[in-house]
Parts: sequence; C-alpha cells; structure tokens
Amino acid sequence: MSLQPTNIAVQEKVLELAWSDGHRSVYGHKFLRESCTCALCQGEPLLFGKGYFPSRPQVSEDIKPVGIGQVGRYALRIEWSDGHKAGIYTFNYLREICQCEECKARKSKQ
Ligand SMILES: [Zn+2]
Ligand SMILES: [Zn+2]
Repeated sequence: MSLQPTNIAVQEKVLELAWSDGHRSVYGHKFLRESCTCALCQGEPLLFGKGYFPSRPQVSEDIKPVGIGQVGRYALRIEWSDGHKAGIYTFNYLREICQCEECKARKSKQ
C-alpha cells in the first residue's frame, strides 16, 4: 500500500502531516506555497534542476492554506490565501520535500 497522510493539521505558521507509516512532516506555509508544482508556478524555465524552486518574492510572509482537499488517493490540493487554487501536491512529492530534522539529515548525507 502506498503512503497516505492520516492526519492534516494547519497551524499558525506550519502545516503538519501524519503519515500511514508513522512519520510526521512539518512544512512552513510559505515554503509549501513556493514549492507548488503547477504549471503556473513553474512558469520559469526549469534551469535549476529537479527539486529546486527559486524563491518567489510575491509570496507574502503570512500566506496560509484556506482549504485542503484530497485528490484521488495520491495527492492534496491546497487552496491558498493569495487566491491560488491549482496547487496539487502528490503524497510522494510532499514526502520528498519533508522539512523535518530526520529527512533533512538523510538528504544532506546523499
Ligand atoms: Zn501553483
Ligand atoms: Zn520527514
């Protein structure tokens, strides 16, 4: 069975996900908004390689998710306070960009 989020909690500054394998992920709202993979947000040529997204100065510091929905059994759709609704974050992608200490440490070793 593929990895699924079992709980999603929107906090003041971060979004917390609990996973079916017991892992917990924490993402800053601004980071997550900037990590949107939709065509609109990825309009810049992908010069920087997979997994690197140039920062977008138009994303404000107090950006927040205003609605979260599940897309099939593979992704979340997040609606943002700046009006952006097309953000689709697959579970695999979310896990890949996990910001917890454990995942950061694992990535820096690779
Ligand atoms: Zn987007
Ligand atoms: Zn993690």
